[in-house]
Amino acid sequence: MNKKITVLKGDGIGPEIVDEALKVLDKIGEKFGHTFDKDFVDIGGASIDKFGVPITDEGLERCKNCDSVLLGAVGGPKWDVIDPAKRPEKALLKVRSELGLFANLRPTKMFAQLKGASPLKETGIKDGLDLMMVRELTGGIYFGEHKTFEQNGEEAASDLMFYSEHEIERIGRVAFETARKRGKKVHSVDKANVLDSSKLWRKVMHRLAEEYSDVEYSDILVDNTAMQLIRNPGQFDVIVTENMFGDILSDEASMLTGSIGMMPSASLSSSTLGMYEPIHGSAPDIAGMNIANPLGTILSVAMMLRYSFDMIEEADAVEKAVDEVLTDGYRTGDIAGKDENVKKVTCSEMGDLVCSKLG
Ligand code: NAD
Repeated sequence: MNKKITVLKGDGIGPEIVDEALKVLDKIGEKFGHTFDKDFVDIGGASIDKFGVPITDEGLERCKNCDSVLLGAVGGPKWDVIDPAKRPEKALLKVRSELGLFANLRPTKMFAQLKGASPLKETGIKDGLDLMMVRELTGGIYFGEHKTFEQNGEEAASDLMFYSEHEIERIGRVAFETARKRGKKVHSVDKANVLDSSKLWRKVMHRLAEEYSDVEYSDILVDNTAMQLIRNPGQFDVIVTENMFGDILSDEASMLTGSIGMMPSASLSSSTLGMYEPIHGSAPDIAGMNIANPLGTILSVAMMLRYSFDMIEEADAVEKAVDEVLTDGYRTGDIAGKDENVKKVTCSEMGDLVCSKLG
């Protein structure tokens, strides 16, 4: 098969981790007889420095005209001082909305080999941890009307959280379908005791729960979810929630696994075109040092193979290779912990190790 991938390396550690993921992708191509053509497009600070905008219209078109998009990360202190409307992160919102990437899947998996790196150790994760966060990505408060205005002689501001039925229904379907292929359990997170948008969210989810009667369904309030993720994360299979709640909860969940550097994500549209990226940011504090953990990006490539290209065997091979490298005791600094038996490796060595497991 031949697939065209638009690659957005971005800023900070973005180029380093994406290079390792591309090495793994090429190895998969070699092993399984596929070709992956890459089209490199500047995004974030890198694009601002060259073109004055976080992504050009032409770059955006190239994201639309490919089979899949791979992203590193954007942003950094250098661009924190510029007009908020032109900051690196604006490019992400633009790509998500222009490509119709409404569903964000974030698997939170505890690798048994990294149990010691979790702040919870054995207490909160005794039943293991393998949950999927399904976050709505193109609606809610991040996309509603933002305004700053004057009221009663002082400055005031408001951000609108807006959802329509069809937006809730399509993300709900992604969650129920995902649960059918996993543990057949959905928790829908909202704040229906206070917010009208959450009351509508709950109404639509209940309708879907009747249709997907083979899936166990529960409502849960967002504050309780934050608590339950620490108390007993093993109770969750699929969590579905709106944009901002999902943004916050998935970062919380990522820490249960030990390091944000391990976590992949997929942003999906109603076609097979998706965008794949690690959930972390550009980590400016370690950029250019070749010490970042590339596994979140490598596992994002596995998600790309699985969800956009339907290459299940290939995706399994990447995940197995990562597992084996961890079993052999290789760790980047963020997951090394205090165990003297682990073998500390650089970002590029980690990429090479995963490739070597792929033969
Ligand atoms: P961050 O995720 O970049 O870093 C948080 C901490 O985690 C840092 O200590 C960093 O060194 C560490 N870390 C992150 N990824 C790592 C990896 N792969 N290996 C080892 N350690 C890793 O979050 P931040 O510091 O809040 O944000 C930095 C910049 O990234 C900001 O400009 C922010 O806006 C941007 N950001 C971008 C995205 C994105 O591109 N999707 C997401 C979040 C933040």
